[in-house]
Amino acid sequence: MFMQGKKGVVLGIANKKSIAYGIAKACRDQGAELAITYLNERFERKLAPIAEDLGCGNRLYPCDVSRPEEIAALRESLERDMGTIDFFVHSIAFAPKEGLSGHFTDIPKEAFNVAMEISVYSLIELARELKPIMNPGGSILTLSYYGGVKYIPNYNLMGVAKAALESSVKYLAEDLGRDGIRVNAISAGPIKTLAAAGIGDFSFMLKWTAAHSPLRRNVTIDEVGNSGMYLLSDLSSAVTGEIHYVDGGFNIMGMPAVNFDENGKPHIAWNGES
Ligand code: NAP
Repeated sequence: MFMQGKKGVVLGIANKKSIAYGIAKACRDQGAELAITYLNERFERKLAPIAEDLGCGNRLYPCDVSRPEEIAALRESLERDMGTIDFFVHSIAFAPKEGLSGHFTDIPKEAFNVAMEISVYSLIELARELKPIMNPGGSILTLSYYGGVKYIPNYNLMGVAKAALESSVKYLAEDLGRDGIRVNAISAGPIKTLAAAGIGDFSFMLKWTAAHSPLRRNVTIDEVGNSGMYLLSDLSSAVTGEIHYVDGGFNIMGMPAVNFDENGKPHIAWNGES
């Protein structure tokens, strides 16, 4: 059991399709004691059975990361109910819909600020607020996407937010490294979740990625969960400041693989054809 004796909080479970749920499940399966959070009362009812299922029915706390008082209250609840923690997972992102399609030049300043606050600054704020209750050897994990590194159609504002998030991971890793706390990100391949549904033409992203990845398929929340568990556990005790790809290898491709038909004519693999 790689997480036996480890305690931590997972932020960003909306339902059982959430990447955060995959990570929480993998940690629970390896013996971790968990707490999880919900955004507002509407989600409290939805998350109660999920918390039960993860063995933390009595550790389900509200936390809208745009409200500093809720982050402070989360720390108090964790300290009261768990004493100290060994890890936290930040699996949270939001951008207003006008930032996720159309012309990049049309992104309103308010949308830009909201996306940066919820998707990036919240990681810094959580790290600052939870650090006093984190044990040395602790680990922080956030979720990114390749659209923060290269252009991806419609990812627009979230691409800029992920670039800032990945940079924040490196600066946080140096800063918290002196306290023995590690900070890493997983850059996951596209997965159909609630947040993903907000991205224009998301089903095309799924098809394109499956067709042009070395593994010729999309990834699952269980696969991201297992890699997340590794980064949160002592198995990765010398790994910090990394952006770890869990994307079937999509990010290594410089050009789509070409296949040849029976007449020797080249064609590009599509829809998972090999
Ligand atoms: P998800 O299930 O919709 O999770 C997103 C979570 O963010 C939800 O739990 C949402 O809460 C929460 N959230 C939004 N605003 C918040 C706020 N102000 N305070 C607290 N929580 C807030 O989608 P997901 O795909 O698993 O996303 C998790 C992370 O993975 C995100 O950072 C996303 O960018 C990243 N990621 C996703 C993919 C993908 O293809 N799905 C790929 C790479 C990276 P509510 O649902 O309650 O609003």
